[in-house]
Amino acid sequence: MRKPIIAGNWKMYKSFDEAVDFAEEVRDKIPSAEKVDSVICAPAIYLPTLVDIATETDLAIGAQNMHYENEGAFTGEVSPAQLSSIHVDYVILGHSERREYFNETDEAINKKVGAAISQGIVPIICCGETLEEKEAGKTEAKVVYQVTKALEGFKSEEVKHMVIAYEPIWAIGTGKTATADDANHVCGFIRKTVGQLFGLDAANEIRIQYGGSVKPENIEELLSKEHIDGALVGGASLEVASYLKILEAA
Ligand code: 13P
Repeated sequence: MRKPIIAGNWKMYKSFDEAVDFAEEVRDKIPSAEKVDSVICAPAIYLPTLVDIATETDLAIGAQNMHYENEGAFTGEVSPAQLSSIHVDYVILGHSERREYFNETDEAINKKVGAAISQGIVPIICCGETLEEKEAGKTEAKVVYQVTKALEGFKSEEVKHMVIAYEPIWAIGTGKTATADDANHVCGFIRKTVGQLFGLDAANEIRIQYGGSVKPENIEELLSKEHIDGALVGGASLEVASYLKILEAA
């Protein structure tokens, strides 16, 4: 059985004090890490403090992006080695907002995945189609392309510890969720693709999240589906009560 993983993606929200208050409040209330992996992906400048707050609790801390080089003249960037040096556990890679607003390419995402695993950071690799692509019946082709590119060159042993987040772009921040059956269908399709590329073990072990307007009201149905192993949660991860409710459903 795959352990569910729920990750909050705070995006560019919260002041420092709000971030600290949130983490201090949730760290003792979250379910056991034996049952569910609970993650908060916070703005980079809060990470060291949040890692301290989460130490020896069941809360894990993740970044929302990173460069693929460990050091260099890349003004404004944060490196995999730097994240690892402050004991960050996860990193979201290839979020659609990064692809759209910061021109992140599939090649760069593939390099970032390699850099993350070489630093012992678990990548949460995002994929998903636009509304236009969905309406043109291109959902499967899009996610297969993105997943294949992101995972190019890795071994089955490495792939099985990764996390993929299927986030249809039309469902992000819009209040429109994919139906649980549709989300399960695409997550199953991603799993099948992983199986074709890396074998059955990797397909059975890799965890696939759904993301896009996940909230306490729809999490249970999503998680009841065979291929949905968790959620990547934006808006609903910003409030302690809704974040905890989503974790409790897992
Ligand atoms: P919302 O949950 O706000 O739709 O955001 C989803 C998302 O982009 C998580 O990465």
